[in-house]
Amino acid sequence: PLTTADLIEEHRICVCVRSRPMNKKELAMKDLDVITIPNKDVVMVHEPKQKVDLTRYLENQTFRFDYAFDDTTTNDMVYRFTARPLVETIFERGMATCFAYGQTGSGKTHTMGGDFSGKNQDCSKGIYALAARDVFLMLKKPNYKKLDLQVYATFFEIYSGKVFDLLNRKAKLRVLEDGKQQVQVVGLQEREVKGTEDVLKLIEVGNGCRTSGQTSANAHSSRSHAVFQIILRRKGKMHGKFSLIDLAGNERGADTSSADRQTRLEGAEINKSLLALKECIRALGRNKPHTPFRASKLTQVLRDSFIGENSRTCMIATISPGMPSCENTLNTLRYANRVK
Ligand code: ADP
Ligand code: MG
Repeated sequence: PLTTADLIEEHRICVCVRSRPMNKKELAMKDLDVITIPNKDVVMVHEPKQKVDLTRYLENQTFRFDYAFDDTTTNDMVYRFTARPLVETIFERGMATCFAYGQTGSGKTHTMGGDFSGKNQDCSKGIYALAARDVFLMLKKPNYKKLDLQVYATFFEIYSGKVFDLLNRKAKLRVLEDGKQQVQVVGLQEREVKGTEDVLKLIEVGNGCRTSGQTSANAHSSRSHAVFQIILRRKGKMHGKFSLIDLAGNERGADTSSADRQTRLEGAEINKSLLALKECIRALGRNKPHTPFRASKLTQVLRDSFIGENSRTCMIATISPGMPSCENTLNTLRYANRVK
């Protein structure tokens, strides 16, 4: 019979893709849809279905993932097939990580954080909140109840290689590594949470902190990685940890030629961290000697989530359906393909 360890070995990494619907602006611009998801694990990037008077410039490309979610899929459905199974992992003393990866505007924050469009400011429908809800449900099960676990949350941001605490007015934090390669984010606020409501409040605080003082919220968030963690402790000791990550936009490659030095540096830093991330995920739980944990702050901080035997991860690659996004979409799909 399969043991928990076997299952984890078998499903160590889950990679899926999610396409968002065309938005109003794209519809108004009559952008052409180049994405088709013909069944639950295939995504096709192809010429627009509408007849356009252009020569063939887009070769049809097909990718297969664990799941492909089309633009009718709800957050709840995405959650159920991605992060939901990882909730079990942290109760079984494991380390779980769920990433949203994709270009700016493709739906990473919508998927992870919730719906923040227009007047909607609803974080209860994002994967952060859905995972928290299920953590508290699991705690009530007799098996886990008797362990007397405490739940904590952290929320921080990595921007240009620096760590900022979103639960503590964006305090800049230092990352230390001891002789045993244990990584510590010094002074990171770990707040005890007693129920989903507590978690929602923290998400709101963190989101507010993330965007404050910025002229354009998306301009800033597209350049930073946001990490939300749910930590289970037993008698003070870590039992399991779930890291949920809204990554910086992956289109930053273009910035490396920007005239602005700061923008160039940010772009280079993001590229570096996403490349390191790919290698670290590929090495997940296998303790490979040359895994580049130290190559970026992101991978350094997440080190303990990659090395354990009982580690699992899931990547949700988000894509925009329009023709103008096509190049970024293909880059996203190729990256996701390499991770699986
Ligand atoms: P990102 O975080 O990747 O930059 P966002 O999550 O901010 O992208 O999404 C960009 C816009 O598209 C937002 O207004 C968001 O509400 C909307 N959006 C994203 N995904 C979906 C979806 N699956 N369904 C409906 N609207 C979506
Ligand atoms: Mg975002």
